[in-house]
Amino acid sequence: MSTPFDRIRRFLDDQQPPTPCLVVDVDTAADRYRALAAAFGPATRIQYAVKANPEPAVLRALRAEGASFDVASPAEIDLCLAAGARADTLSYGNTVKKPSAIAMAHAAGVREFACEATDDLENIARHAPGAEVSVRLLVDPPASVTPFGRKFGCAPDEAAALLVRAAELGLDPAGISFHVGSQQLDPAAWDGAIALAAKVATDAAARGARPRRLNVGGGLGVSYTDQAPPVTAYAAALRSALHAHFPGEAPALVLEPGRAVVAEAGLIRCEAVLVTRKSAMDPHRWVYLDIGRYNGLAETENEAIAYRFEPVGEHTPDDGPVIIAGPTCDGDDVLYQRTPYRLPLSLRSGDRLDILAAGAYTASYSSVAFNGIEPLRTYCISGGRLISAE
Ligand SMILES: *Cc1c(COP(=O)(O)O)cnc(C)c1O
Repeated sequence: MSTPFDRIRRFLDDQQPPTPCLVVDVDTAADRYRALAAAFGPATRIQYAVKANPEPAVLRALRAEGASFDVASPAEIDLCLAAGARADTLSYGNTVKKPSAIAMAHAAGVREFACEATDDLENIARHAPGAEVSVRLLVDPPASVTPFGRKFGCAPDEAAALLVRAAELGLDPAGISFHVGSQQLDPAAWDGAIALAAKVATDAAARGARPRRLNVGGGLGVSYTDQAPPVTAYAAALRSALHAHFPGEAPALVLEPGRAVVAEAGLIRCEAVLVTRKSAMDPHRWVYLDIGRYNGLAETENEAIAYRFEPVGEHTPDDGPVIIAGPTCDGDDVLYQRTPYRLPLSLRSGDRLDILAAGAYTASYSSVAFNGIEPLRTYCISGGRLISAE
């Protein structure tokens, strides 16, 4: 069976670009978007979380599919507009923003803003009068692989009060939002959060503010070394939670996936710079790659995301345990020392490896020049051909 990774590998084998590099097949990102839209149905608005991968070619492909966008900064607004997105399809999802950012977004035509605090709400009323506001709720879901902890959202009574206050300030108390943590492998994780949102909606409605949208965030998982549930399982779980907790008229659903759209559209090709054993007794080899924590693999922090590595070319079938590290002179730039990884015993310095499902939260997390190492280069392909290189 041919996979999206095969198209990327054909491109890499033909073009042999220098490593490390990320290749994103934008056709796959569009496919993933279509699969989400089919699973959740036409009534669900899907806002792609731009931070996962802001490549213009990705944004253009998703816009052509009819996607809306979740943006977190003026620069992300500019990227979406440059990709041809209409301003009224952008939602400012970051609850931490300066008044100048609100004013810029408003001037650009962005109509919806997420909010979780009175200060910010008053800034929105001042700099984006009449805007739609969606209040972010602090939720306590089962652990995800990369959780948000307590960073975002406010308590239910605070959320209801903010919706009421929004109406008083002449804003439109349009929605409630939350995020159950990224790479959330349990589709039931949304249930408790949706129950809490229903309670907030009821409380706010009793005081005259009637939110009509429910933004259930992103968080849908993808398959790295662990297998993720299919998107249809997430859609079914969310649908049943919505029916259970909103027995009357259910709010319109908004989904904000980042990872689930682009992760499996990307593959990183890298090179083993050094393969060594610290002592003859040590069963582990250390494999130092030309990519690490600071030039694309930020999500290996705490070994949260365990990527799949596949050596390129011919190797012996026998393998052995390895510790995988990045190229910089930083002690934290060790990718995996607890997660058990095995690589072929024939692996040598200069051999190449592919990192699968690496399209999300890689290039966008890359530092500019730590240790003089340049940011992760991205090539976008469509129909198997190069359409952009950054
Ligand atoms: C990052 C983010 C998302 C996307 O999350 P994924 O886990 O990548 O799907 C969605 N909404 C908000 C507000 C975010 O910050």
